[in-house]
Amino acid sequence: MTQLENFAAGHWINGNGEGQVLLDAVTGEPITSASTKGLDFKAMIDYAHQVGNPNLRRLTFHERGRMLRAVALHLRKHLDKFYALSFKTGATKADSWVDIEGGIGNLFSNASLRRKFSDEPFAIDGEAINLSKHNTFMGHHILVPKAGVAIHINAFNFPVWGMLEKVAVNWLAGMPAIVKPATVTSYLTEAVVREIIASGILPDGALQLICGNVGDLLDHVTSQDVITFTGSKSTALKLKKHERILEESVPFNMEADSLNCIVLGNDVTPADAEWEIFIKEIRKEMTTKAGQKCTAIRRIFVPENKIDDVWKSLKQSLSKTTIGNPINEKVRMGSLVSMTQREEVKQQVQKLIASSQLIYGSLDSVELIDADAGLGAFISPLLLLNEKPFASKEVHEVEAFGPVSTIMPYKNMDEAIALSKLGKGSLCSSIVTADDKIAKQYVLGAGTHHGRILILNKDCAKESTGHGSPLPMLIHGGPGRAGGGEEMGGIRGIKHYMQRVAIQGSPTSVTHITNIFQQYANGIETPVHPFKKYFEELNIGDQIISQKRKITSEDIDKFAELSGDHFYAHIINTDFNGTMFEQQVAHGYLLMSIAAGLFVDSYEKNPVLLNYGIDELRFTKPVYPGADMYVRFTCKEKLPNDKRIISNPEDFKRGDDIDKGIVKWLVEMMDGNDEQVGIATILTMVAKKL
Ligand code: NAP
Repeated sequence: MTQLENFAAGHWINGNGEGQVLLDAVTGEPITSASTKGLDFKAMIDYAHQVGNPNLRRLTFHERGRMLRAVALHLRKHLDKFYALSFKTGATKADSWVDIEGGIGNLFSNASLRRKFSDEPFAIDGEAINLSKHNTFMGHHILVPKAGVAIHINAFNFPVWGMLEKVAVNWLAGMPAIVKPATVTSYLTEAVVREIIASGILPDGALQLICGNVGDLLDHVTSQDVITFTGSKSTALKLKKHERILEESVPFNMEADSLNCIVLGNDVTPADAEWEIFIKEIRKEMTTKAGQKCTAIRRIFVPENKIDDVWKSLKQSLSKTTIGNPINEKVRMGSLVSMTQREEVKQQVQKLIASSQLIYGSLDSVELIDADAGLGAFISPLLLLNEKPFASKEVHEVEAFGPVSTIMPYKNMDEAIALSKLGKGSLCSSIVTADDKIAKQYVLGAGTHHGRILILNKDCAKESTGHGSPLPMLIHGGPGRAGGGEEMGGIRGIKHYMQRVAIQGSPTSVTHITNIFQQYANGIETPVHPFKKYFEELNIGDQIISQKRKITSEDIDKFAELSGDHFYAHIINTDFNGTMFEQQVAHGYLLMSIAAGLFVDSYEKNPVLLNYGIDELRFTKPVYPGADMYVRFTCKEKLPNDKRIISNPEDFKRGDDIDKGIVKWLVEMMDGNDEQVGIATILTMVAKKL
């Protein structure tokens, strides 16, 4: 039998010794074995620190993002191989899609996230803070990649997604990873890692893989490393208490057991579209991945007078679930990941049965297509009813990690909220209601105890991503029992792998460090108007001071006429007693338009392709007729903009074929007394010279 290899310090290494035999969850046949015996775990961490980390941290966010995209495109060429292995984990095609293509989707999504960052190896966090009266001293926050390695210890249920959703984020942040998948399904993770390494896209040391026991790995972690853990609470607690982790204050992100719930709003009746939506969502959550999802619905809260109807509808819906060999296209639910896991689920259900009754399914038999329950880890969906949820502890504490869920009654929304909280913290919760007042009451009441809340009704059901899908741009994690961790969430996720540093100094120093022009920093007077410069030729701080222009009452009247904005403050004969103004005041948008007239210099074509918006615009002082106005116009920030890849010629739009970048400009609108009357950041697209 072949043995899985570990990828350590840049080499594929066979573990010494026999290793753990990994079985096909459907047929029970051996697939391969896994062993890490003989691996030098300290050398792996050293390699990540000394090779992987410097290689990644020197890349800019845009380079890292393009790297993620290239990895995603590469993996897409090998889907068949991954699906074939995924079936062996008991996953159906639809389950595998979530794991494999959902995982690759995370790479794409984080690749696109690069556009939210400057083209720098570090990131800016939040707003500039002025710390002085005379504008010579300021503060800012920046984020630099941590100098260590991200160690991901993952659960068995998503061997691909579980890895990719995490490495996408640490790579974008500039940190390397050591991935340790759960051994039982590590053969699928290994296949994906093999392809990633073979692609040659990642720099050396960016990724290492451990298939099996982690040995003394954790004895060598440092304060610059980050550990993420997904799995059972008992393992999590053991690891979190590791002496070295405590001593070095290593961030430990924990995603553990979660008793997620769904609530049926008391406005919903069997005649409403929301009824069917509710039933379908529960069936999907119980049967996708055979219920082996950290986000699966375990607790179903229903108004007490609707329990019987829900029970009936759910029974009917679950009876349509075809179970068996996932390779058969008729099959909707595959097997659990292993016989051990099936035993574990049965034991957990026994604990639940102490205070609940089984109202659908059997612990001992299951009807199968193309499969044998004696060989594969099959189990039927199991629906339970608990009529006294306030009197029962188990139903809120025992997680049966399979197709298992319990219906419970509630009397009013306060009770539903209280019941949802008895889970002591979950990854996600849903409420199905057509009444947004009910939704609001639930979200604000229960929000303290859930990492994510889905409000489901007929308005969004068709396009909803569903209760159980963590999304790369939304945070994933939950308080309390769910581990108290948080990951993903777009820019929020990146921050877990970066050190935040408050920097203080003069605006000119901070401009130099951040490469973003800070207001009051010294500008660079440029003899050539910056609009005549190509993207590469522009310097942060390139600045022009415009001519002065008098604002007249006639300008204001004309602008009111042209725009149709006849707000009383812009009308000359308004009685200004009791208003904020002394007399007719210029429209803010008039000032912005005049500012554009002052900073745009030329009738000739120039490298500026177009102006595409304003990020921030504030009017800071009223401008009355007779006032002079001028503009200080400064190149604030440059962002590369990749050439769009046009696969369909019909998608071609003018400009897509031009190499260009985005330039942000600080527009300071000043009056004759050199006082600021308005400020804006405008965005232009500027051609590259090449
Ligand atoms: P587990 O036994 O806790 O294992 C999780 C991971 O920890 C595996 O990679 C496992 O490796 C590793 N591990 C176990 N002991 C370790 C140790 N002493 N040192 C280092 N690593 C160690 O959990 P599981 O059985 O794989 O997963 C099932 C449970 O995970 C479910 O009950 C569910 O509650 C939970 N889960 C939670 C989430 C979430 O996001 N909240 C997601 C999925 C699963 P080996 O495989 O080599 O033992």
